[in-house]
Amino acid sequence: MPTLSIFGAQWGDEGKGKIIDLLAREADLVVRYQGGPNAGHTVVVGGEKFILRLIPSGILHVGKVNVIGNGVAIDPVALFGEIGELIARGVNVDPRCLRISAGAHVIFEHHRRIDALAERWRGAGRIGTTGRGIGPCYADKAARTGLRVADLVEPARLRTRLTAVLVEKNALIESVHKEAPFDIERTLAQVGEVAVRLAPFVADTGAEVRAAYKQGKSILFEGAQGAMLDIDHGTYPYVTSSNTGMAGIGTGAGFPPNKVERVLGIAKAYCTRVGEGPFPSEDKGKDGDTIREVGREFGSVTGRPRRCGWLDLVALRYALDLNGATGLILTNLDVLSVFPEIPVCVAYDVPGVRGAVSEYPAYLPALDDVRPRYERHAGWKTDISHVRRYADLPRAAREYVEWVEERIGVPIEMLSVGPERDAVIPRR
Ligand code: GDP
Repeated sequence: MPTLSIFGAQWGDEGKGKIIDLLAREADLVVRYQGGPNAGHTVVVGGEKFILRLIPSGILHVGKVNVIGNGVAIDPVALFGEIGELIARGVNVDPRCLRISAGAHVIFEHHRRIDALAERWRGAGRIGTTGRGIGPCYADKAARTGLRVADLVEPARLRTRLTAVLVEKNALIESVHKEAPFDIERTLAQVGEVAVRLAPFVADTGAEVRAAYKQGKSILFEGAQGAMLDIDHGTYPYVTSSNTGMAGIGTGAGFPPNKVERVLGIAKAYCTRVGEGPFPSEDKGKDGDTIREVGREFGSVTGRPRRCGWLDLVALRYALDLNGATGLILTNLDVLSVFPEIPVCVAYDVPGVRGAVSEYPAYLPALDDVRPRYERHAGWKTDISHVRRYADLPRAAREYVEWVEERIGVPIEMLSVGPERDAVIPRR
């Protein structure tokens, strides 16, 4: 396997976890490069469900090196919670199979607290964050007041830097939010404890990944969230706090993106979105509810019901183009089996613009007001979750897949028809 990037080509929750887990079999290294512990990939192995938040999906395979790159926001408490859960379920997690970048920024309790307080402050104008402190952690990174893993594992440095940060955060918490400040000594003691546990995993991961590449090892870059949630290219401000696709690999893994040979977008055969923000092909009616029930569209970490709607080819083409995708994997095709007719959004009607718009209007302030134009496709109305060969799919399902493929301009390399590892239909 060459170097391979897998990214979400919609608003996240595309089923990346399962596909990454499947393709990780052929990889030597699996690398995460952005996002924080809100990612929540779901992988089902032998009927057992694993939810991975920070640790790369390669951990479920023996003998892989799993890397958490410098672009990931690491919450040590969440990390050790996850490690503990995995070990309890018989998965090996040691410093040979898990490497954590010394350059990754750390999420502290004050980030989580400020996340919640800021949302409260915003009231009706809230962003809909997951409240895990990820945004505030990235904000501190940009403001150059963040602490990195390297700071954590050096006690004297940790004391000086964290104290300075907490004094500033306490001023904000007390004067703006009128809440009790953090006890600095107590916080230092707590953080010091986690730091000791973290130390054995810490490495210069960028150097390790580049060296592995030069040795001819195969590397899989695991994207979290999705292209439409990219902080620069997504539906700002209703986005995540990092670059979610190819752009994130250079900054967040310390690996040159031009060495990534294969780039696979993952998209569901319909669309979902969590939280606020524009979602042109959302179906707020009965069909949306049906998708949510059949596809079990509830957040894997938060349990929040996801907003559901139809496949949006305008947004999907944009996401694939933006990331230089060489192919697409279409997941959850089985969920569409209940519908006699399947609408697909092929263009938008944009207020003030004459004619249909088929290019994604990334900077439109009123993206909320665009109206989808649908083409309707015949459904197949039969269970396809047991199908493993493309030729065995009902004709209407094959026609649907080929029809989508023609409109996105890259090959659909694989279909996914169920949560299990083996519920896939290869096409190439
Ligand atoms: P990720 O963050 O992109 O990995 O996506 P999530 O894990 O949040 O959501 C994917 C959900 O869909 C999980 O519950 C998976 O087990 C499930 N899933 C993945 N692929 C398929 C599929 O092809 N069909 C169905 N029905 N469920 C799937």
